[in-house]
This record gives sequence, C-alpha cells and structure tokens, in this order.
Amino acid sequence: MRGTKVVVIGAGVIGLTHAVTAREAGCAVTVLERDGRALGASVRNFGTLWPIGCVPGVEREQALRGVRRWQEIAGVARFWHDPSGSVSLAYRAEAWQVLQEFAGTSADFELLDAAACVRRFPAVNPTGLRGGLFSPAETLLHSPTAIPALAEHVRRLGVTVHVGTPVARVLADHVETSDGRRFEFDRLVIAAGEEMRLFFPEAVAAAQIQPCRLQMMRTVPQPAGFTLGAILVGDLTLCHYPAFRDCPSMPRLRARLQAELPEHHRWGIHVIAAQHADGSLTLGDSHEYGLDLPPDSRPEVDDMILASLREFAVVPDLRIAARWQGVYLKSTVGRTQVVLQPRERVTMVTAMGGLGMTLSWGLAERTISSWRA
Ligand SMILES: Cc1cc2nc3c(=O)[nH]c(=O)nc-3n(C[C@H](O)[C@H](O)[C@H](O)COP(=O)(O)OP(=O)(O)OC[C@H]3O[C@@H](n4cnc5c(N)ncnc54)[C@H](O)[C@@H]3O)c2cc1C
Repeated sequence: MRGTKVVVIGAGVIGLTHAVTAREAGCAVTVLERDGRALGASVRNFGTLWPIGCVPGVEREQALRGVRRWQEIAGVARFWHDPSGSVSLAYRAEAWQVLQEFAGTSADFELLDAAACVRRFPAVNPTGLRGGLFSPAETLLHSPTAIPALAEHVRRLGVTVHVGTPVARVLADHVETSDGRRFEFDRLVIAAGEEMRLFFPEAVAAAQIQPCRLQMMRTVPQPAGFTLGAILVGDLTLCHYPAFRDCPSMPRLRARLQAELPEHHRWGIHVIAAQHADGSLTLGDSHEYGLDLPPDSRPEVDDMILASLREFAVVPDLRIAARWQGVYLKSTVGRTQVVLQPRERVTMVTAMGGLGMTLSWGLAERTISSWRA
C-alpha cells in the first residue's frame, strides 16, 4: 500500500475516515472538497454513535469498533465527546415487550423498571412509563466541532486537503476539478454524500437509494444542573432502526403507533434527545423522501417532534435556538451501507440513513483492506 496514490472526493465523515485509514496504511492521500469545509449531513446530525440501532452481529460489532475509533481520535484530536450511553424508554406495552425481547441480544444491556429509570435519569417522564433499556455503548459527539477537528487531524497525518475544489469528472486514472486541475489516482474513493448520483449515475440508480430530508432543532442551553444523563429515546425510535426489526412484538408496536400517530408515521418522525456540552439539546427528526422536496421546513413537523419528546422527557426550557435540515441517501430496500465499484480502482461509499457517523470507520477499514486483496 505504501505510496499508493489515493484521491478522496468529499470531506464529510465518510471521506475523512477513509483518508485517515488509507494514510495509516501508508498511502499518499489527497482529499478534494467542493465547499470551504464539510457542510453536509456530517455536520447536521445528532452526533450520536449508535450501536444500539445496528443489527446485532456483524453490523453491531462494526458500530462498536467505530465508537472505539472515535474515542481514540477524540483523545488525539481533542474534541468533545460524551460516552454516557443511551436509554430507550417504553411507554406502550408493546414497546416494553420489544425492549425485553431485544435485551437478550447483548450482555451489555440493562433492563430497568420504571422506578429505576426515573431514579437514575431524573429527566425521564414518569407518567405512563413501563421501563427502559440502558445501553452503555452510545457516545455523543458534537459534529459541528468534531468534523472540523477530524479534518485538522487528517491534515496533521500528512493528507493534502483541497477545499473549494469541486470534482467535475472522473476519468480512467485521474479526476478533473471544475477549474480544470487534474489529480491522478491509483485508487479513488467517492464519498460525495447526497451528490453521489453526479458520478456513475447508472451504478447509483441500480443501488436503489433515494434522498431523504430530515428536520432538526436545538434548544437553548438548559438551566445549570439539568442533565439528561444519557441520550434518550422513546417508543417511536424502536420502529426506526433496523436493530429491533426481528423482535417478535415489533409488528404489534408498529401497528399501534401507526394507528395512534398517523401524522408522525406520514412524516417519518421519531425522537432522539441528546445533550451537548453547552447544555443545549439536539432534537429531531423527520424523514421525507424524493427528488422534489419543497424548500420550506414544516413547522407542524417540529411541533410533533416536541410533542413526542414530552412523552418521555421533562425538559425545563424548550425554547428553540436553531432549526435546520439535513439530507442523506437512504436505501429503498433497507440497507444501511452501500459500497459500489462502478469501475476498476473506483469505490463509491455511502452509509445509508442515520448511521453514517457510527459505521464510517468500519466502512473505511473494509474499503482499504479490499485493496490489499
Ligand atoms: C439530520 C441527520 C441526523 C443524523 N444523525 C446521525 C446520528 O446521530 N448518528 C449517525 O451515525 N449518523 C447520523 N446521520 C447520518 C450521517 O450524518 C451520514 O450518514 C453521514 O454524515 C454521511 O457522510 P458523507 O461523508 O457520506 O456525506 P456528507 O457529510 O454529505 O459529505 C459529503 C461531502 O462531499 C462533498 N462533495 C459533494 N460533491 C462533491 C464534488 N463534486 N466534489 C468535491 N466534493 C464534493 C460535499 O460538499 C460534502 O462535504 C444523520 C444524518 C442527518 C442528515
């Protein structure tokens, strides 16, 4: 691998983790980023490293490895991270059933009855609570600062990063930027996020993926002394991540939530509450699919997110300091990561949906080790 010329298109989390991993393998790496810095999904997310959302087995192991890698890098590159874990809270009998079924998939999980949840996590809403599942693995990053810190770390490793450099064309052994510069490669990694379809559109179309837009919010910092204590989620989130799909009670939970909350179902709402270092809470999200989404955010969707938050958390100050949207590609057939090889020496990588921060290190390791084969 030593001296292999690697070009990476995109300085989001997928591009940067590939750059680090290739550099550590001895490659000469160049990253080409269209904007002045990463501004896509990688800096618009919750920042949750979320093994609990990954299917038990290979994918969960990949996620856990990803958490360890992030923790190592956070120590070296000195960015904030909070390894407080997560609590999945159950308010409907079906959700509690799902959690009890799921608890057996890892010795790390701890089932808590309602009283124990409230004792350990005082921000949890006790009304109607049946119990919760504590998982210690989930870790919170603050993406708007962690991703730039990772980019700096990449530079310190000796990777050349060109910002303001959109790649316009991919040729057999080089790429051309919009201002006509050429960058030669032995290996090319395309990690262009939602713009993947600009390159090799036939391969991307065959991969059955579509853009998905999400609405997010951040509260003002909460009063001193208030802490969530962990990342909190409620019943809706159990239906969102693939991890829980094989639980026998999942169809009944899904049916009940769809019947009770049809508008939440329509807009793909589930709710995560994550508290960052300044005391603010990042809240979201919703999911709208397609190529023709209107530019406006939907205030009624934000209201539904806040209503669902109140079901499982008692938050002292729900004034909203910021609202934003993010877009990622999502599989129409339930895959969580896609690696395409549209041409020899060219790898296109996208982590589908809401697990890209969690799975990106594993994806990078897989890509770089495939070059050794
Ligand atoms: C609202 C939201 C919440 C999420 N929450 C979580 C979470 O909590 N945990 C989790 O694990 N995942 C989460 N995700 C998913 C995760 O953020 C994404 O999977 C991940 O950021 C995708 O990374 P990426 O590098 O592929 O894309 P991006 O971050 O979009 O990066 C792609 C980069 O490529 C650049 N680019 C595009 N075209 C070109 C070109 N022609 N030339 C040069 N550069 C180009 C873009 O400018 C961009 O910087 C969330 C996503 C969203 C939107």
